[in-house]
Order: sequence, then C-alpha cells, then structure tokens
Amino acid sequence: MDDEEYLPLSWLSQADYCLRRAALLLNERVWVESSDTAKGRAEHERVHTQRVERRGDLVKLYENTVYSDELRLVGKCDCIEATRAENGCTIPAAEFPVKLYPIEYKHGSVRAEREYEIQLCAQAMCLEEMYHTQIAEGALFFITAHRRHTVALTEELRAAVRSTLQLLHQIRDDFAIPLASYSAKCKRCSLREYCMPKVKRTAKNYCEVLEREAKGEAEL
Ligand code: SF4
Repeated sequence: MDDEEYLPLSWLSQADYCLRRAALLLNERVWVESSDTAKGRAEHERVHTQRVERRGDLVKLYENTVYSDELRLVGKCDCIEATRAENGCTIPAAEFPVKLYPIEYKHGSVRAEREYEIQLCAQAMCLEEMYHTQIAEGALFFITAHRRHTVALTEELRAAVRSTLQLLHQIRDDFAIPLASYSAKCKRCSLREYCMPKVKRTAKNYCEVLEREAKGEAEL
C-alpha cells in the first residue's frame, strides 16, 4: 500500500459496523447491492448534487470534499451549514466568518447508530483541520422520516474515530480479512452470502482438514 494513501471517509462507518465487511470492501473490492443499499443510494442521488446555496447569513454547501492530512482520510460531506458567527472561521464560499455544522444524510427511520456518528464526527474533524476551527455538534438527517438527530462530537466519539481508523489502516496495510463473527448485524448485511458468517472454518482450515482426512487422521 502507498504510505500516503488516504482512505475513504465512508469506510469508517463500514469498519465500525463490521471490520470484516470493511476489509472485504477495501481489500477484495466486493460489493453486493441489496434493497437497503440500493434504496440508500437512490435517495442520496436524488438529494445530492454538488452546489452552494446562500440565504442571508446562512450558506449551505452540498457534496463538499473534505480531507485530513493528520488522519489520512478523504471524503464528502452531504451538507455543511455555515452560519455567520463573528468569532467563526473563514471558508471560500462565504464572505463573512462562519460557524460550521456538518450534516450526514441517511435513509430510513430515525436511529442513533454508532457507525453513522463516527462517520459524521470524522467529517467534522476534517473540517476542523481544513479551516482551523472547532465543531461541537453535527446532525444525521433521516431522509424518509425528514427528521434530524443531533450528535454531540465528544472526546469519546473522536477517540472512536481514531481507533476505528487505526484498525482500517491496519487491515489495508496487511491486506488482512478478519474472520467472520456471526451476529444480528449479519442479517442486514448485503455481503452475507459472500461472507458466509456461519461457516466457521477458513479455506486454509478446510484444506488442512481435507488433507488430514486423506491421511485417515480426521473426519469432515
Ligand atoms: S455477514 Fe456479518 S460477519 Fe460477514 S461481513 Fe456482514 S456483518 Fe460482517
């Protein structure tokens, strides 16, 4: 892997959901569309095109690219609300100092899922580094329910971003695919048929058993 490789920000939420899923996406380039992923993508495409909207003291930036050299992370913010604030930061899209508020769009009903909060927090950390500012809060916006869920960007959440990112960089560096651990999440995972989380043996284990059986030392 390139030492300077920047990982896609959205993979943080995949990694928090399941590290094996993130590794399959990242290292084996597996993608299986499910009704959930298709619906989410369709809703995102409908809502998002890169643009800037200005109304008085509020500037809204949609699909804005964000990055962090410190975290080696790059991605997009679905929406950044930039509101006039005298002690705020300077951004190219606004002619006045602003306070930044990132919003991540999700489909489905309102739910406080940790992996979404980690993704949102990582976006905020990128914005803080880019514009030398502090961001205390952001929001998840659930498109179907048309509701906002505010998220406090606590030190604990920031630590979770760093530790998840460290795991993600590690599996990328090692090209590792962690073993499956079956849980309730597998039922909603679009990769479950590829992953086969209930199959306990790795291919290597399976071959070893076959080899032992051929020698009459083991039974399948
Ligand atoms: S099926 Fe389960 S273990 Fe496999 S990638 Fe999905 S969530 Fe992870």
